[in-house]
Amino acid sequence: MALADKLSTRAKYPFLPEAKEAFLALGFNLDSFRDASTKPIVERAAKRIINALHWGENVNPMDVTEDDVTELVSFPLAIILAAKTGDKYLQRRFALAEASLAYKRMSNEDSELILRIAREAFKINVEYDDTYPPYRYTVGLVDYLKSASKFNDPVWKLVNRVVARGRVYIESRELIRLLRDRIEKYILENIEKAEIEVGKLPENLEEVVKNIRNQIPERKFEDLTLKEGSSPEAWPPCMKAIYGKLTSGESVSHFANFMMAAFLVNIGLPVEEIISIYSRRSDFNERIARYQVEHIAGLRGSRTKYITPSCSKIRTNGLCIENGRLCGNIKNPMTYYKKKLRELKRIDKDKAQEK
Ligand code: SF4
Repeated sequence: MALADKLSTRAKYPFLPEAKEAFLALGFNLDSFRDASTKPIVERAAKRIINALHWGENVNPMDVTEDDVTELVSFPLAIILAAKTGDKYLQRRFALAEASLAYKRMSNEDSELILRIAREAFKINVEYDDTYPPYRYTVGLVDYLKSASKFNDPVWKLVNRVVARGRVYIESRELIRLLRDRIEKYILENIEKAEIEVGKLPENLEEVVKNIRNQIPERKFEDLTLKEGSSPEAWPPCMKAIYGKLTSGESVSHFANFMMAAFLVNIGLPVEEIISIYSRRSDFNERIARYQVEHIAGLRGSRTKYITPSCSKIRTNGLCIENGRLCGNIKNPMTYYKKKLRELKRIDKDKAQEK
């Protein structure tokens, strides 16, 4: 293990424009990695992904090499290798781990560098302003809403913020939190781009991709086979939308997780099946997921089973689809589900009679 402090800024934050310039100046292309001298870079790129698979967001920020070029070049190479595995779970986990790594490093940086990362790498409209401690920065309203709308914690809601002259005051750790999300998104976008643009890899890199694929943990939970009657066909649009995101490994807000779990509990899906849906999340932790689902199902703590949140609550959280246009005048997603289920059963019965 090496000291991350010895690394240059561009090696620690390889998504900065100056890092991209330095990478281009080095003149690497995919064929360069056939050369034995680049082996440490290839190994580090593979390790970035394998560490992400094993540790996710708990990845150790000190587990790096001390060589600037190795750190710098292994980042875009790891993006290409992750793209070539074709595994969405791995890709999301890698993006999450790299963003968490940067988050931990940024937490120890001075405000000047944080400002530079926010402005130069992500074009965020941010200024240093410590007029109202503990706030350290202000962010333009548009940028703030774009970033913070995904966070479910009420503290991020605009009504709970200090806003002056079209700017929102935020603390240092909050800006770093916003940056973490931007970095994760940046990595996922670049993986997607690499999937389309990067052609065949040299054999030695193909071999590395194969080895990485072998390290993807076997799905402990089988692909979802829902019981008769629990089919997503009968689910309301808001639940289908979250289900789609979860099964493709996308992250969703705390509230979205809660409303989905509460809905699944209330339609009678067994705890194991609910956990299997959550197992596709890049930050999946079985112990935590089980605890939360069992809590919602009333099998732990106060032993109270949670009801499915109402449509108005879901709407307030911005998760209702097309303002309920597809659902009729209902107050709770369970109403949609029960009605639809009856309808589907009737159709099945009619078909059986026709036969
Ligand atoms: S109306 Fe209710 S059930 Fe339908 S999408 Fe909106 S929140 Fe979901």
